[in-house]
Amino acid sequence: MSELTPLRESLLRHLADGQFHSGEQLGEALNVSRAAVSKHVQALKGLGLDVYSVSGKGYRLAVPLQLLDPARLAHALAPAQVEVVPVIGSTNQYWLESVERLNKGDVCLAECQTSGRGRRGRSWVSPFGGQLIMSLYWRLEQGMAAAMGLSLVVGIAAVEALENAGFAGVELKWPNDLYLNGRKLAGILVEMSGTAGGPCHLVIGMGLNLVLPESEQERITQPWAELAELGEISDRNGLVIALINGWQQALLRFEQEGIAGFRERWNRLDYFNGKPVRVLMGEQEVQGTARGIDDQGALLLELESGEVKRYLGGEISLRGNNRE
Ligand code: ATP
Repeated sequence: MSELTPLRESLLRHLADGQFHSGEQLGEALNVSRAAVSKHVQALKGLGLDVYSVSGKGYRLAVPLQLLDPARLAHALAPAQVEVVPVIGSTNQYWLESVERLNKGDVCLAECQTSGRGRRGRSWVSPFGGQLIMSLYWRLEQGMAAAMGLSLVVGIAAVEALENAGFAGVELKWPNDLYLNGRKLAGILVEMSGTAGGPCHLVIGMGLNLVLPESEQERITQPWAELAELGEISDRNGLVIALINGWQQALLRFEQEGIAGFRERWNRLDYFNGKPVRVLMGEQEVQGTARGIDDQGALLLELESGEVKRYLGGEISLRGNNRE
């Protein structure tokens, strides 16, 4: 994966409008040769950006790019601290390593992750500018047990923030994926550290697909979706602000009321509610009909016998059951 040097960043700012720019024009603006421009364009491709080169016309991005705006984000989200690291291994990893200096609500954002991750060591594809990639630090004084159900709450808050921004139709898959028409639009990963009896440090990360470059799409190993399917994304930074505000408000409420106050909100958005599903736990698999969540955030599964079983915990995966 290439590095985003200051020169490449300014090249990107020129290309961000999605229009053609000749090598000569770019070379003059950046004070480098045309050959150097060509080399740096290759490096941008190495970050997962689709850059077209057309002889006689120059270079252009496949889709215009709104870069993250650190000053606007810091102003809008104050007093939370906002750190924008354009190219990073993993925002969650970095924020987990930083907990000692963070305050509740602080946010780390990136344009691209080189080692984005999902649950249980799975990888998360996060090409440059194609997503919203964010991690938020939170702290629960009551310790780890109080975090139960929290990942559901941040999923609900994310979908509601998108609805308020005009992107209706996003649903949730237990415990914390955002789905669009049955395909994965975003993944949420909550990671924690802390000692028994002490406060719980939480890092809540999300990668939300906006527009994924073609070159990256084949790396995703399950059906996926992008927000652009629901309409034009006219203000990428505004969406970050809305999502972070939504998370902060929901987390404060969660601290007061727990997950019980969110149950109805979850059930409205639950993609699998009423559908045949399989619950996977390691080698074990149980089939039934999904029946929403209970007051602890546990997944409710109605078996063929009519018995309702509840599932709670990190090692459980839910899948649609196409065999029925
Ligand atoms: P689970 O139901 O256990 O959460 P999952 O397969 O959805 O299962 P996650 O850990 O949530 O697992 O996410 C990682 C998976 O998401 C990857 O294995 C890949 O299939 C998929 N994936 C990776 N990058 C993207 C992306 N940008 N958009 C959508 N899906 C992705």
